Amino acid sequence: MNADTPTLPPRARLTPQRQVVIDAIAQLDGGFTLIELYDRARTLEPRLGLATVYRTVELLRRSGAVRPLLSQGRAQYVRCRPGHHHHLVCLSCGSVQEADVCAAPPDEEVKRLYGFAPEGHELDIYGTCAKCAAA
Ligand SMILES: [Zn+2]
Ligand SMILES: [Zn+2]
Ligand SMILES: [Zn+2]
Repeated sequence: MNADTPTLPPRARLTPQRQVVIDAIAQLDGGFTLIELYDRARTLEPRLGLATVYRTVELLRRSGAVRPLLSQGRAQYVRCRPGHHHHLVCLSCGSVQEADVCAAPPDEEVKRLYGFAPEGHELDIYGTCAKCAAA
């Protein structure tokens, strides 16, 4: 297993069916919906149920290996590496790139202005990727 393979939370059991879902995610590029993942996973294991896909994605979401994308009212997910980063989502080809730049206000500033103690934030940036811009 390389560092790029999505992993389940520590106490979740890795069943053969869940492994199929993980393999399917590893094959997908960019964002995906549950149905797209289900279709892909069933090419690997035709007897796979949608409930298994759903539950596995839930587990991977808890471990941070996939993250929901807050895009255009479409319930999409994206594979994710650990560590702080944000996603650059291309609106024309759907590719998702991870970016280390962060534009969120510093915790201290949020605390000073609003008396609010931040623990995290999510930010997806939408636009046109370099490949699409060049086309
Ligand atoms: Zn990510
Ligand atoms: Zn693009
Ligand atoms: Zn950030």
